[in-house]
Amino acid sequence: MKSEIDLKKDIIEVGKMLHSHGYIAATDGNISIRISQNRIITTASGVSKGYLKEEHIVTVDADGNLLSGRHKPSSELKMHLVAYKMRPDIKAIVHAHPPTCTAFTIAGVSLAKCVLPEVVMTLGVIPTADYATPTTGEVPDSIRDFISRYDAVLLDRHGAITVSQKDVYDAYYKLEKIEHTAEVTLKARQLGQIKTLTEEQVGKLTYISGIAAEKLCGSTCVNCGACGKRAVSSPYENTGTQSESLRCKGEDPSNSGEFSVQRAVSSSYEKAGSESVGLGCKGEDFSTNSGFGRNNTESLKAAIRREVLAELKMLAE
Ligand code: 13P
Ligand code: ZN
Repeated sequence: MKSEIDLKKDIIEVGKMLHSHGYIAATDGNISIRISQNRIITTASGVSKGYLKEEHIVTVDADGNLLSGRHKPSSELKMHLVAYKMRPDIKAIVHAHPPTCTAFTIAGVSLAKCVLPEVVMTLGVIPTADYATPTTGEVPDSIRDFISRYDAVLLDRHGAITVSQKDVYDAYYKLEKIEHTAEVTLKARQLGQIKTLTEEQVGKLTYISGIAAEKLCGSTCVNCGACGKRAVSSPYENTGTQSESLRCKGEDPSNSGEFSVQRAVSSSYEKAGSESVGLGCKGEDFSTNSGFGRNNTESLKAAIRREVLAELKMLAE
């Protein structure tokens, strides 16, 4: 096990990496490591995390009380503490303001869709927590539900938080990964339409990686169609291509809440065209969905049967 001094050096190193990659500007961002259940080291508030000195890393307990250090702990310490509380498995946290990720949240374009296979296999989709005033108690409240399930969460207009079960470098790599995803997605959007993975492709990725289905199609997913969700239109994303303008009914306050003729192009489920298909949207229980596509396929068949019967009945009338 590494000594506290060495862990502080790791934080200094990660601070340099965040700064040199442009994920933080000025005094942005914060980094922490949980050393034991009631001992956390964190960056100090208001200093450049690209040029940290050992004295800029302070020690606090699980409630945020200062145990050692001359500086004030990060103003986002409450967010870190909530994440550690919600996730007894994690050891390190990185918060930064990566520009492309942040721009996506400002534009209202979600990254919570199945596009890049390696991201699907590791992080699942990348959800966005609602806007919260930085440094206040709103921030921990906004991430609470997400951080219990996801290792990387975007903060609306305010960067991202990533967590790791391993170490602070791993938390950093997750941040690098989501910024890279945002950059690739941006380029793809500039070139044209975003093709999301098909349900079959996602099913295979789920099978080989063992990633929990709820990380792909939990209540935060924007219904890219990959898991066969029923799509609805959303003004929130209406600048995008067909599959980008889809979101599950009622999942966003800005959602029109009405079903649209627009459907996820990559999803065979969408061909059923029935409201009753309603697969995987908010409130659905994925805990029993071990085979990912299997339960959905059964639901789909039932939905198609209902649809066909309803249409036959209408024709007969
Ligand atoms: P601190 O310097 O207080 O950690 O704040 C930086 C930041 O990113 C606030 O959201
Ligand atoms: Zn911040």
